[in-house]
Amino acid sequence: MRTEFVNARTLEGGPFEFVVDGDRFGSPGPVGATVDLAGATVLPGFVDAHCHILPTGLDALKLHLGPCRSREEVLDAVRDRHAAQPEGWLLAVHYDQTRFPDARHLTRQELDSVVPGRPALLRHSNGHASVANSAALAAAGVNRDTPDPTGGAYVRDEGGEPNGVLLERAHEHVSAQAPTPTFDDMVQAILLAGESMSRLGITCATDMMTGRWDLERELLAYAEAARRGCKVRLRTCLQWGTVLGPRGIDPGRLRDLTEGPDPSRCRPIGLKIFADGAIGSATAAIYGKYLTTDGDGQLIYSPERLKEMVRLGDEAGWAIAIHTIGDRSTDLVMDAYDATADPTRHRIEHAMVLSDAQIERMSRQGARVTMQPEFLLRFGHAYAKQLPPEVARRIKRVRSVLAAGLRLSFSSDRPIVPGDPWEGIKAAVSRPEGFDPAENVDLASAVRLYTSAGAEANGDGGTMGELTPGAFADFQVYTGAPGSAGPAEVWLGGQRV
Ligand SMILES: [Zn+2]
Repeated sequence: MRTEFVNARTLEGGPFEFVVDGDRFGSPGPVGATVDLAGATVLPGFVDAHCHILPTGLDALKLHLGPCRSREEVLDAVRDRHAAQPEGWLLAVHYDQTRFPDARHLTRQELDSVVPGRPALLRHSNGHASVANSAALAAAGVNRDTPDPTGGAYVRDEGGEPNGVLLERAHEHVSAQAPTPTFDDMVQAILLAGESMSRLGITCATDMMTGRWDLERELLAYAEAARRGCKVRLRTCLQWGTVLGPRGIDPGRLRDLTEGPDPSRCRPIGLKIFADGAIGSATAAIYGKYLTTDGDGQLIYSPERLKEMVRLGDEAGWAIAIHTIGDRSTDLVMDAYDATADPTRHRIEHAMVLSDAQIERMSRQGARVTMQPEFLLRFGHAYAKQLPPEVARRIKRVRSVLAAGLRLSFSSDRPIVPGDPWEGIKAAVSRPEGFDPAENVDLASAVRLYTSAGAEANGDGGTMGELTPGAFADFQVYTGAPGSAGPAEVWLGGQRV
């Protein structure tokens, strides 16, 4: 049926005069129904082309410690959770001791006092640390004789006993002992994540590392969530090793798993590779030195290996998306892309530190670039602590990258940040204190980067993220000024969700 929407305008102020024909926008013509939008503003649905969908949903199932402002509040919340859900591991997220008056970490003994007999693990909001109780340490086989892993530490008390605070690799080791989510947990989590994203006006999202637990189970869960009416379109970018590594999935099996009935609702778009770390932990590979460590970060792979991985993925027909934050790492990623037949098929994720010469090189090469402007709001203090001021100021050079004609898009990287697209848009339009205002962009550009440009990054260019005949009728309706509050309505494929 063809439906006409009347009495609405676009962000630019012009009339919104499209007909929705089935699941797409159509041209004006005879209609069967009319919807009066009462003076509202219509925007295309947001496309979050780099986030972590399943982890977002799994986090939503865990205890959320974000609001806690003291050690006592954390312990109360953990005690309540223990009483309400007494089985298995007690997992919490968004623990942050820097919000406590004395900024001192909890200890394993304090956690034991509220959760004595079962493993409990509180993940830090930076994702690089956690606090475990004694049962969690025991489940991971950690005791006073356990040496610190390279690239991590079991923080110890004066007596040399692990006190429960886990950093980097130690945090990863203990976290890996928690049971992996079941298929049902995964489907539930994806549906939950879809619901929370839809409330923010997002209509399509890309999971940027599918396969972190079990590729097959995850792909089946995404397909099942789509079948059960997930409120966002789902895209997946598969961890390189799960497809092309020594124990990678059989290509025939992968085809069976990913050839769904409706690829517009769920499909893989590429392979994900990590080239370096993050600025906050001084692990992004940069030119120059970090202020805190005097080091220059870490490359995950040698330049030769990275090139080989890109070549194998490219030859197998995949688009590649590479996490690269530091400028030293980004040069190596561009070297690897230069060796492929068509670098414009591939993506550069984050590219947070860029010189003028690199921007010029990127524009010649033509790979797509994604940036996450909300990071400026959430991690500005960490950048200032780690990088010389003149480098930190120029992180995420949105305007320069656009001026060079690069195919840039915005995304969130949730659940690392809360992920409201408007927070990212605002940070890009008016960069927070301490960041070079010359890199600000105008509102219409920022919205475009979070809509049609996101679709383009996913290989969905022209079919979503815009209000044009032929594109999917995925849009959001604002009764007040867009951005001051979430959308009043979201439509996905011509249906109100
Ligand atoms: Zn990410």
